[in-house]
Amino acid sequence: MERRSFIRNGIIAGTSISSYDYKPLENISATKPIMVSTWDFGKYANTEGWKILSANGHALDAIEQAARVTEADESNKTVGYGGYPDRDGRVTLDACIMDESGNCGSVMAMEHIKHPISVARKVMEKTPHIILVGDGALQFALDNGFQKENLLTPDSKKAWEDWLKNSKYEPVINIENQLFKKQDNSFALGGINNHDTIGLLALDAAGKLSGGCTTSGMAFKMHGRVGDSPVIGAGLFVDGEVGAATATGVGEEVIRCVGSHSVVEYMRNGLSPKEACKKVVDRIAKRDLEKAKKMQIGFLALDKSGNVGAYALQKGFSYALKSASEEIVIAVESYFD
Ligand code: ASP
Repeated sequence: MERRSFIRNGIIAGTSISSYDYKPLENISATKPIMVSTWDFGKYANTEGWKILSANGHALDAIEQAARVTEADESNKTVGYGGYPDRDGRVTLDACIMDESGNCGSVMAMEHIKHPISVARKVMEKTPHIILVGDGALQFALDNGFQKENLLTPDSKKAWEDWLKNSKYEPVINIENQLFKKQDNSFALGGINNHDTIGLLALDAAGKLSGGCTTSGMAFKMHGRVGDSPVIGAGLFVDGEVGAATATGVGEEVIRCVGSHSVVEYMRNGLSPKEACKKVVDRIAKRDLEKAKKMQIGFLALDKSGNVGAYALQKGFSYALKSASEEIVIAVESYFD
């Protein structure tokens, strides 16, 4: 099929997911403003971000507002409110945000606050620090007017109680975080179209780049576990002179290669966004092929000219793109078929 990406117009149109068009990825380029977000559900976030970008707003504002859409979506079991809890039944959220000048903020393992992306932005703008974790992050959020909430929805609580019966931590490719509700109300691993971290990248009309990443992390993780998503350089990296990248998938492996930073550095050295993503995925696969076969990792990158690219270990990774001329969800090429 040559080097092509599948563009799922059917999803965007709200019609059947089985309707596919094909279009060379190389056509998705050189336009601003533009916004891209990981996974199919990124399209809902993009719609919100686009309101800001299309009105000549700043990419950072678009990122924050877009991320909040996914964080508030109870049906999304891997981000924000309704995210699956850890092994102790506690919902702990991770998020970070970064602008074109290297300003950044992050919260890790924060409980009870629905919008970690906004707390991360406050950390960036109101403190001399970059990262706040756990109780410190919660305290800071409360001091700054965020409301304390119970983030464990009945569905997620039920999924956790079900999981407790076997207590096996076995992330599954592309559905690492996804359980679905069966007819008898029990839960099983598997599901479609609703999983994983949202990583968002935006280039505004003024040519400024920003990015954000927000997640509840791997479902049923150990209490206190933090993945790549809120780690600047791993789950997200932005360099206003070059481009931005974000990651999704098994966070431990993304941290090991400082994934998003590596993607941006490859772009700095002249690779296209897609080539840069592929280079890092290739490195992960080369390090331990057997391990790589059993997990998903995907990178998404946007350069400062508006060129977009992505690459993943496994099939099934997708991203949503919104610009003045395009509103699409793209299935990403992968290392393994
Ligand atoms: N990268 C996230 C984490 O490891 C999870 C994911 O994207 O699936 O926490």
